This record gives sequence, C-alpha cells and structure tokens, in this order.
Amino acid sequence: MAESCPLCNTKGSLFFQNKRHVFYTCGLCHGIFRDRKQLLDRKDEEERYLHHKSDINDTGYHHFVLPIVNKVKAHFESGKCGLDYGCGHTPVLSRLLSDENYSMEIFDAIFFNEKAVLDKKYHFIVCCEVMEHFYNPCREFKGLFELLLPGGKLICKTHLYEKGMDFDAWYYKNDPSHVFIYQKQ
Ligand SMILES: [Zn+2]
Repeated sequence: MAESCPLCNTKGSLFFQNKRHVFYTCGLCHGIFRDRKQLLDRKDEEERYLHHKSDINDTGYHHFVLPIVNKVKAHFESGKCGLDYGCGHTPVLSRLLSDENYSMEIFDAIFFNEKAVLDKKYHFIVCCEVMEHFYNPCREFKGLFELLLPGGKLICKTHLYEKGMDFDAWYYKNDPSHVFIYQKQ
C-alpha cells in the first residue's frame, strides 16, 4: 500500500524494497521516503544519534562541515545571527561559525531542546545532515522558514540520490534514521 509523500502529500509509489528497507518515491517532489512503519521510536533514534556526529576536534568532521561554513561566509558578514538546527550532541558547526564571529544559537530536538531558541529570528539557519532525518519535512521546513529574517537563508547539507545510482548498494539508505532522501529536483 503506497503512502503519501510527507513533503508534498502526493501519493507515492514503491521505489525500493528488501528485507530491511522499504522506500517510496514521490512523482512530484522526487523525494524518496521510508515506509512509516519502519520509523524508529524516540529512544532508538536517540541511541542512533549518540553514534552519529563526531568530536569537536575531529579534523575529518571539520572537513565535512566546511562547505556549510564557506556558504555562510559567502553570503553573510560576521556578526549576523545564525541557528544550527539539529546540531547533535556535539555542536561542531556552530563552534566553527562562532569562531568566525557569527552569533550562533543551537537547537537539537534530543540533545539541546531549548524551545526559547525557536522564538527568535535568524539571518541564516544551518542544517548539516539533518533534513534526511525529518519525519515530517513539510512541517519542519515551514517551521524553519518562520525563523528566518527577510532575505534569510536556510543552508542544508545532505546526500542527494541521483538517477542511475545503485540504491540497493547505497550505504546512505541503511541508516534506519534516514527517512527522507532528496533528489536534486
Ligand atoms: Zn513529494
């Protein structure tokens, strides 16, 4: 039974199925979304995330978030306000941006759940390897849009699926907390 796309609410069709993973795809937004019956409960999700993000001194991880830092620097002068949304247990990205003299706040539904942060407005929001975890991307993106000042930007990093890639062999789908995968469209 195909499900509706949690981003644009279009009826999806089966995209991939094996013993562990079932994904549907949306003909309108081209999202690829996990069967809702496979979504983790909060406790399993938490455990998953504890293993997810790297140490603040890990140079590999610095390299990983660098494209976002560079994007912010290209579009915003230092001193502007930013939010690191879904920062994980170790907010590396916001630390690096603070070092560049941006005024950073952090939010993470599990590790830094400080709701007051979501009452403010920001010049930019950074979202590094977060949007693939959105159970309800429509609601999440609407919420993030509300947090942006006029002319503000949401800067996201995720792995895109591209046509022709071997989904079966693709490691990215194997993480059970990866529930919505994007294509360029
Ligand atoms: Zn869709």
